[in-house]
Amino acid sequence: GHTVNQIQSGQVIVDLCSVVKELVENSLDAGATSIEVRFKNNGLDFIEVQDNGSGIVGDNYETIALKHYTSKLSSYDDLSSLQTFGFRGEALSSLCALSKFHVTTARADEAPKGTRLDFELSGKLKTTQVVASQKGTTVAVEDLFMSLPVRRRELEKNIKREYGKVLAILQAYACISTQARISVSNVVAKAKKAVVFATKPNQTTRENIATVFGTKALPALIAMNLSFELQLTTPRRPASISENKQVRVLGHVSRPIFGEGRQAPDRQMFFVNSRPCGLPQVAKIFNEVYKSYTVSQSPFIFANILLDSNAYDVNVSPDKRTILLHDQTSLLESIRVSLTALFEKQDQ
Ligand code: ADP
Ligand code: MG
Repeated sequence: GHTVNQIQSGQVIVDLCSVVKELVENSLDAGATSIEVRFKNNGLDFIEVQDNGSGIVGDNYETIALKHYTSKLSSYDDLSSLQTFGFRGEALSSLCALSKFHVTTARADEAPKGTRLDFELSGKLKTTQVVASQKGTTVAVEDLFMSLPVRRRELEKNIKREYGKVLAILQAYACISTQARISVSNVVAKAKKAVVFATKPNQTTRENIATVFGTKALPALIAMNLSFELQLTTPRRPASISENKQVRVLGHVSRPIFGEGRQAPDRQMFFVNSRPCGLPQVAKIFNEVYKSYTVSQSPFIFANILLDSNAYDVNVSPDKRTILLHDQTSLLESIRVSLTALFEKQDQ
């Protein structure tokens, strides 16, 4: 019954961050070039993600919110060389069970008409209704965790901190997304609509950083373009093979030697093939190298590791926030060496 569904759903949508992450990833998967994220009361009352992506085909209305439905996996091999963010088909079904949830969508040939989809808790399609809509998809989530009172109370208690974490994730998406503009707004109590930030389309990552964190941050940053070869083990059936592969680490980091302008915020963002993720081991290396140049300042780090998609696993944790890198030791060592070389060059 619903209880089972709710407990399982709780594992994919564990908090406010996972809601926002899943919805933004769906929008990116749909090829959106504009994504608007709107909160009411820090997300406690309302979360909406609107995109101008492909929209959803009518044939899929019945299935999108069913558990384990995904339109993104065509074969087993897709799992090991993943091009899209989503692949488990659990986000929408979870949100159905955990909130008041609806979707509005229009394909290019349907706009300015679209369809509003409402679902049962189980994910079964309840009603469809023709509404005005631009091309794209809007997912609205009201009263998150309303069906899980304990978790709802937790969310209410920690909403400030949760919202802070959500903003950090959205900042990371906004900075890395050069193909899409991302805007974030939050309406709190009776205050006027507050735009938190809004990037523009086709900005460089450096311009995105300036938009999100302020232009003051830029003089304190240097561009990073590390490049090295690594022997990477690729799991293949019947036997895994080792190949030399090019790895690049692109981004922007605090100047190792601080002069006057210490304006860069102490934010650290890591990405693997442009997917935001927590990489504690990589973060540790960066911070260690910094420590050998400066005493106390915590550096700004925006680092996108570009490597063969066979070199890591994304589906280790249910919320995909952790990535398992094969050959981690040699990758870390190469980062240490080439980052040190970059800083030595700055020093001259
Ligand atoms: P997954 O992303 O793993 O496929 P989800 O539950 O996140 O599973 O989404 C289910 C399906 O709904 C997707 O496979 C896709 O077909 C459709 N969908 C969800 N969000 C969007 C969107 N923003 N634009 C277009 N299609 C979407
Ligand atoms: Mg998804």
